[in-house]
Amino acid sequence: MYIVLLGPPGAGKGTQAQIIAREFGLTHVSSGDLFRENLKNQTELGKLAQGYMNRGELVPDDVTIAMVKERISRSDCANGALLDGFPRTPAQADALAGMLAELGGKVHCVPYISVPAEVLIERLGGRWTCPQCGRVYHEKYNPPRTAGVCDDDGATLIQRDDDKAETVERRIRVYMEQTMPLIEYYRRQGLLVEVDGTKSIEEVSRDILAAIRKG
Ligand code: ADP
Ligand code: AMP
Repeated sequence: MYIVLLGPPGAGKGTQAQIIAREFGLTHVSSGDLFRENLKNQTELGKLAQGYMNRGELVPDDVTIAMVKERISRSDCANGALLDGFPRTPAQADALAGMLAELGGKVHCVPYISVPAEVLIERLGGRWTCPQCGRVYHEKYNPPRTAGVCDDDGATLIQRDDDKAETVERRIRVYMEQTMPLIEYYRRQGLLVEVDGTKSIEEVSRDILAAIRKG
C-alpha cells in the first residue's frame, strides 16, 4: 500500500506520517528528511541540495527522483510506504507511478491536507524538530513534555534554517506554483481525498485514517 501525503509546507504531513505509518506498519519516506540526512553527512547529494533548500526552492527533479527511487526499492518498502514531501512536481508524480509499477505496486490513496497560508506561517514559525529522529513539535500546539527536548530520545530540539519567515514565504510560493498542480493530477485519477488540516492533530489523523481505509 503506497500512500502519498500531499499538502503545503507546514500542513502537518510529517506529524501525520508518523502516526499513520505506525497504524498501518508502513515505512515513512520523507524526501526532506533524506535530503537533511545527506546534508548532515556532507554527501555530494547533500552539498548539491543545500543551496536549493536554504533558498526554499525545490531540488531538481532528476536528483530527487533518483534519491527516492533508491529509497523505495529497499526491502522495507516492498509492501508499501507512506510518502511525505514527494512527489512535489508532475514530473516526480509520473516518475513515482513508473517506479511503483516496477515494484508491482501503485498509489493507493492521496490524502491532501489543506491549510490556508496564514496558518502555515504560524505553524512553521513555532516548529521544533528533533535532529536525531525527525519528530516534529510545535511550541504551542504540540509541545514536548520538557521544553526543547525530544520526548522519544532526549535530543535537543532545533529550529530548521528554512523555517525563517522569509524562506517560509518562498516555500509557500514554490508550493503554489510547482506542487499545487498535483491536486488536480491525483483528483483526475480518483485518488485525492481532501482533509481539513486546520483541525486538531487527532482529528486530522482520524480523517486521514478513515480516507485510507475507504480508499
Ligand atoms: P509538514 O511536514 O507538512 O511541513 P509538520 O508535520 O512538520 O508539517 O507540521 C508543521 C508544524 O505544525 C509543526 O510544528 C507541528 O507540530 C504543527 N502541527 C501539525 N499539525 C497540526 C495541527 N493539526 N494543528 C496544529 N499544529 C499542527
Ligand atoms: P520538507 O522537509 O518536505 O519541508 O523539505 C525541505 C526542503 O527539501 C524543500 O524546501 C526542498 O528544498 C527539498 N525537497 C524535499 N522534498 C523535495 C522534492 N520532492 N522535490 C524537490 N525538493 C524537495
